[in-house]
Amino acid sequence: SSALVWFRRDLRDFDHAALYHALKRFPQVFCVFVFDTAILDVLPKRADRRVEFIHASVVELDAALREKGGGLIVRHGAARDVIPALAASLRVTAVLANGDYEPAAIARDEDVAERLRVQGIAFESFKDQVIFEKSEVLTKSATPFSVFTPYKRAWLAALTDFHLKAYPVEKYAAHLAPLPAGESIPSLAEMGFEPTNLQEVGITPGMAGGRKLIDDFVRRIDRYKARRDFPASKGVSYLSVHLRFGTVSIRELARLAHARGGEGADTWLSELIWRDFYFQILWHNPHVVGASFRPEYDRVRWDDAPDLFAAWCEARTGYPIVDAAMRQIAHSGYMHNRLRMVVASFLTKDLGIDWRLGEKYFADELNDFDLSANNGGWQWAASTGCDAQPYFRIFNPVNQSEKFDPDGSFIRRYLPELAKVPDKFIHAPWTMPPIDQKLAGCEIGKDYPAPIVDHAKARERTLARFGVVKSAE
Ligand code: FAD
Repeated sequence: SSALVWFRRDLRDFDHAALYHALKRFPQVFCVFVFDTAILDVLPKRADRRVEFIHASVVELDAALREKGGGLIVRHGAARDVIPALAASLRVTAVLANGDYEPAAIARDEDVAERLRVQGIAFESFKDQVIFEKSEVLTKSATPFSVFTPYKRAWLAALTDFHLKAYPVEKYAAHLAPLPAGESIPSLAEMGFEPTNLQEVGITPGMAGGRKLIDDFVRRIDRYKARRDFPASKGVSYLSVHLRFGTVSIRELARLAHARGGEGADTWLSELIWRDFYFQILWHNPHVVGASFRPEYDRVRWDDAPDLFAAWCEARTGYPIVDAAMRQIAHSGYMHNRLRMVVASFLTKDLGIDWRLGEKYFADELNDFDLSANNGGWQWAASTGCDAQPYFRIFNPVNQSEKFDPDGSFIRRYLPELAKVPDKFIHAPWTMPPIDQKLAGCEIGKDYPAPIVDHAKARERTLARFGVVKSAE
């Protein structure tokens, strides 16, 4: 008998739960990846770094599987049709995949499982992309956590060597079925996509790209806690896009951090636990897609301000730290975590715009876009989420800038028009006297925008806006 392993967000041939289980149990294992038109057709842009990243990773994965005697069948079509049809034509008895926690993916998998069932083919899914999933970590009263710190404590207490152990795929690699004749991988152009600047911005896709970043980060991990909040310096791992597409293994990363210990590695492990935390939040609370985690926060009335929203998207707010961050995401598809918090707070608390608009913009732009973490991050910043920033704690964008980009080097990297603005004005250039504007070659309102909002006034408006929540409590 034979099986089909369906790759999705797990584009690697090592430490892979579904592949391991299939190879162990079946003498013949086929592998498939589907460029799912249900997902691709609704992407807003035809040049999409994620599609290019996936494509290059799929090419690499196929080569890696061929090396082991197998290969990757690659299709472009609706997964809900392609998978049952392929399973039937290959005459497999089961389709195995790693589980997903997003409502749309869950619905797709249920649909595919049902179509397979009527053909007499089993569908099995495995935990792979997280350390703990679903209800594996619960409170003492057996309810899901909604606060991070106790979740983390319980997560660490539940952790054993078993959870960090790699699935030894190599052991049964002989069971990989050779690629059927005539298979080839459709090109990006054939699927209607255009090339992006992925390479130019220094992102190497695939397992090779993930490996390179891990090797680089282990040399810096001890300094992670001290340096992670400064976007101008290389303090973080940049592994998020690889975690998103499974070109690295979460078990390997958690094992590495756990074994290393010390404040750098412990802090980094905490971030990986945040990732698990938001996955289980989404699993237990699918209503967070589109609505506040805490329903009373859906009373908040956001402003309808398309011009301000456009200024935010297009890096024209007049607040350099916000604009530099928005240029970073537009240019590279990445934004530093500190800046994600700053711009999300700015959109919701300074511009009074609904967090869902920012969430959608990030979803379209981020290479590492993950529904769970993105929704969690936005609801945290908007104060509508689980364990969120309280609504009365409002980031001051100028203070954030002074604190986390003290000499303005990140700002200047992305806003060359401010290159010659003296350090003392870089965080609030509108305070620059006309003579300094002249000297810096940067006239406010002409070369760089005047601030589109006054922070102090915006703060008062936000406190009032959230009053509806307080009065309901
Ligand atoms: P590192 O600092 O090296 O952290 C290592 C890994 O831990 C990350 O790759 C990521 O997988 C995980 N991680 C770190 N912080 C968080 C967090 N707060 N929540 C969940 N996981 C975390 N992260 C995404 O992966 N996808 C998103 O779509 C996303 N959207 C966000 C939106 C907002 C508004 C905010 C405030 C945060 C968002 N994050 C998101 C979390 C975080 O900003 C990124 O994971 C991080 O910046 C990625 O860079 P890194 O890999 O260098 O992180």
